[in-house]
Amino acid sequence: MDAGDVEPLPSTRDASPAAASASETGASQTVTEPAALASIEVDLVAGTWRTSENFASVAGFALASVDGSGRRVGDALLARVVERDRERIATAVRALLEDGATATLRCTVRGDDCLERALEAVVSVVMTDRRPLKAIATALDVSAGRRVEATLRESEARYRAALKAGRMGSWETDLRAGTRRWSSEGMALFGFDLPGGRGIVGGDHDEYQAAMHPDDRHLVKRLHALADEVDSFPAEYRIVRPDGTLVWLSGRGLVAARTPDGKAQRLISIMADVTERRHAEEALRKERERLNLALSAGQMGAFDLDIRDDVLWWSPQTYAVFGLTPETFTPTREGVAALVHPDDRRMFLQRRADSIAQRQPLALEFRVLRPDGSATWVSHRGQVEYDAAGRPVRSFGITMDITERKHAEEALREADRQKDDFIATLAHELRNPLAPIRNAVELLRRTGQCDPQVVWCRDVIERQVAQMAHLLDDLLDVSRMTHGQFHLRDESLQLATVVERAIEIAQPIVEAAGHALSVELPEQPVALRGDLTRLAQVISNLLINAAKYTSAGGRIRLAAAVQGDGVAITVQDNGIGIEERQLPRIFEMFGQVESALGRSQGGLGIGLSLAKGLVELHGGRIEARSAGLGEGSEFVVHLPIDRRPQAADAPVPPVTANTPARYRLLVADDVREIADSLAKVFELMGHTVAVAYDGEEAVRRVDAFRPDVALLDLGMPKLNGYDACRQIRATAWGRGMTLIAQTGWGQDEDRRRTREAGFDHHVLKPIDPGALLALFPRRP
Ligand code: ADP
Repeated sequence: MDAGDVEPLPSTRDASPAAASASETGASQTVTEPAALASIEVDLVAGTWRTSENFASVAGFALASVDGSGRRVGDALLARVVERDRERIATAVRALLEDGATATLRCTVRGDDCLERALEAVVSVVMTDRRPLKAIATALDVSAGRRVEATLRESEARYRAALKAGRMGSWETDLRAGTRRWSSEGMALFGFDLPGGRGIVGGDHDEYQAAMHPDDRHLVKRLHALADEVDSFPAEYRIVRPDGTLVWLSGRGLVAARTPDGKAQRLISIMADVTERRHAEEALRKERERLNLALSAGQMGAFDLDIRDDVLWWSPQTYAVFGLTPETFTPTREGVAALVHPDDRRMFLQRRADSIAQRQPLALEFRVLRPDGSATWVSHRGQVEYDAAGRPVRSFGITMDITERKHAEEALREADRQKDDFIATLAHELRNPLAPIRNAVELLRRTGQCDPQVVWCRDVIERQVAQMAHLLDDLLDVSRMTHGQFHLRDESLQLATVVERAIEIAQPIVEAAGHALSVELPEQPVALRGDLTRLAQVISNLLINAAKYTSAGGRIRLAAAVQGDGVAITVQDNGIGIEERQLPRIFEMFGQVESALGRSQGGLGIGLSLAKGLVELHGGRIEARSAGLGEGSEFVVHLPIDRRPQAADAPVPPVTANTPARYRLLVADDVREIADSLAKVFELMGHTVAVAYDGEEAVRRVDAFRPDVALLDLGMPKLNGYDACRQIRATAWGRGMTLIAQTGWGQDEDRRRTREAGFDHHVLKPIDPGALLALFPRRP
């Protein structure tokens, strides 16, 4: 369609009807205002001339100073013509003067103000007898007209380009006449082409109504009603093009004219295709919806804090986590801190400040108090954004209700505690029957039975009881380790002593398997600090493992070397080795390698875990290496060297029994088999023994029997071992007596209590009679 068919429309730069009408009015004023016509008449015969009054204002210069000569007026006029036009005009004028005629001349003149003006002059030369008589010129300043024309053309072009670029179209509806005039862009937008761009308002042939998406068709009435109320209003709706494409349109309606009663009469619509934007918005909306769903399914709330303005935004789920609603609570940084449980608040504030200062993501768990007084566990993860100057500007993240998880964790910890307690109780209870078995074996030995079968049986029982006692000790140690109740002696030690002790313990097992054990120690003494028994236990454990996991006749090497501030003690074997992937597991509690299970010889998989714990308690570390299955293993224990000046070496207490002497001994235990069997063993050794089966009886017996040594069980009826001890100590004859507590409980707490009650020693069941004898007072 030709642009000329369409009425000029308001500028797209300002779509308000008021602005539109102003620009229209402005343009038409310039175009249609009667232009100023100036005239000049020169009498070519008389040489006189005159101009109309407005000549100077139209031409931009006056001719007053020019004298009457007609030629000179011509020259003066020509001098005002700009150079580029002058020759052409001079030629045209000459021709006119020769022939006499009327011509329209266009030229540009320069005024006194130095501005150029485009003049259109109709020049007539009147001739008499082929001679020029008069010249009359009527000039019109056409600069303004040209400018407006050019501006209009330009603005029209710009307007159309803008419509095209913005995928916009316009049309004008005359509600009273029932007609619609479409611009070509408007029709392109709707995908139709109407002859002359003419459409029909209302009825079956309303092309606009027909194009409307059925769901939005009702809007047409609404928009027309709106036009009756306001001059400019926004509109957004869907149309369906003839090819079936759905297009979202958005734009404005502008009322260009109203009926005398104020109803909208001419309505200009400018709409743009915003389908892509709507799709993008829709996709964004869906994405946001999905994110919200995911957050809400995960019981997660989001927060976003503008740090500079202290404006905090919470998602609905965050309110739910805190048990609050947007109506009752406006989140602020201070407000949130106040919701944190008083016990966690300091930590919360500190960690929040640290995270900002150290530019670290924030991840913490704390409790919040809900309005109903209940405490909710919350996990808080956030991140801070900084501006170019490094100032924190924004913090955002998620908040999650983790109360259930916390309760489950607590239940797990409780179950774990119960398991540890159970293991400790079990180990304790299992010790009790071991005592009489060991005593019975000792009895067998004392009775001097030499029947090889009896001797074999006795040895088997003795070895198995020792092994069982060892396992139970380990179990108790582990339970103590996990409860953090392991207290070590802190003594000056020599590395050589530790190694000696360890070899002493492991030797029988190493020898039994026919392994060759080599030992390399540094030449200079190496001082350590710690608990001799426990360190020896660690090394002996490694030696016993090396013996266990190496086929008979293997090689075991124990080597210690000083490395910097520490000593590295290596136990190496050429046994079955360990797969690389299993290496980290073997130090875990109950960590056993499946392929080695066949050889574990009754291990529980706690030896290495215990060794690791013990080494760490000594400020050291332990590591395992192996080149793989069949390649042997190597365990290295690193311990810090004690660099402090050493006191004269304390003598290692003798492990052998005291000089044989006769003692009076009282054995008190409510388990009769324990008391009786131990009594029998000591009687066979030549000592005088009395027994008691409860605490009160023990005190009475001690009074009557006056033993050198009283061995008291702690958990006795009527009077427990502690109180029995106290009562005995309170007597004159009991003050100097050797009192030994016997118990299945080897916890440090128990040892402290027995010491406080007045016991001299504390021995664990099952009791080794030889070791017990070593605690008896020395006879001069
Ligand atoms: P246990 O020996 O009672 O099973 P440990 O904690 O002492 O428990 O050892 C854990 C596991 O490490 C063992 O079951 C075994 O699989 C592996 N292991 C320990 N020492 C060696 C070794 N010297 N050679 C090969 N495997 C070993």
